Amino acid sequence: NVTICTIGELLVEFLAKKENQGFSQPGEFWGPYPSGAPAIFADQVAKLGFGSVLFSCVGSDAFGEMNVARLERDGVIVNGITVLQKATTGSAFVSYRNQSQRDFIFNLPNSACGLLTADHIDETLLNQCNHFHIMGSSLFSFRIIDAMRKAIENVKSRGGTVSFDPNIRKEMLNIPEMSQAFEYILDYTDIFLPSDGELDYFGRHQGEDEQLLVDNLLRRGVKHVVIKRGPRGASYFSDQQTWHVPGFAVSVVDPTGAGDCFGATFVSLFLSGVQPEEALNWANASGSLAISQRGPMEGTSTRSQIEAFLAAQSAR
Ligand code: ADP
Repeated sequence: NVTICTIGELLVEFLAKKENQGFSQPGEFWGPYPSGAPAIFADQVAKLGFGSVLFSCVGSDAFGEMNVARLERDGVIVNGITVLQKATTGSAFVSYRNQSQRDFIFNLPNSACGLLTADHIDETLLNQCNHFHIMGSSLFSFRIIDAMRKAIENVKSRGGTVSFDPNIRKEMLNIPEMSQAFEYILDYTDIFLPSDGELDYFGRHQGEDEQLLVDNLLRRGVKHVVIKRGPRGASYFSDQQTWHVPGFAVSVVDPTGAGDCFGATFVSLFLSGVQPEEALNWANASGSLAISQRGPMEGTSTRSQIEAFLAAQSAR
């Protein structure tokens, strides 16, 4: 039985109603929506019926209450979420320039989830998990990096596995600790899930073949490399197998959360024994459903919703 834990930001998101609205004058926003890449991941894992633990912190406020209630409703084990009395729940404002470029203003390092430390990671709860998933977007403080190391070492020492989605935010690339942390994590990573746009950061040099980078990662000890390609779907590579599975033609309502839902679906199904090609197809469906709903966590889907989507697609 698969029980996956993840660590990091749990926040509310406000989404600018107009494209290019920006933040420099008053405007209208949708939200607050529950958000945070690891939280969306955890929600999607739970909705598929797998064990899902999220370690995070919220403030003692309505945003925190809403987030915890939402995750609990969807089946996430919320005992790992600590309510901090003296902090406020994290938040993010998002404005889209077009379907793929967006600007953020984050209130994270000084929010409750930015105060998460290794001490908030309850070992009894951690011991119930056989897999740990890391999001690069969560590594914005020393304290969280420490907490992440504690979880990796615990899960690995018990024979568990680790997955890593770099989920790079350009606003965070100037944090030097983050790139060091990426190197550390890759040494323990079993399943690596970058998007194709992120490959350059991991050593694919201009003009170089993607396969060369994949081979280097596999040689380094990563066992499974999964590359997300937006509307073009996704690919899977291991020492023995390569699969390319096309995406589905869907219209984009809100692209936030696609990669998180994709990752959660791929990782949990793959760990439960589903073959890579089928896991990719389900993960593509999960990513497609994610972008069809407004709000970062509003597009997580249940097993039967994914089945219905796949059935409708094959009837086309
Ligand atoms: P990330 O959100 O991490 O940048 P992607 O944009 O590649 O990752 O999205 C993750 C997955 O979601 C893709 O591999 C694909 O399955 C699905 N997806 C994303 N965007 C689209 C789209 N426009 N049309 C269809 N599927 C999409």
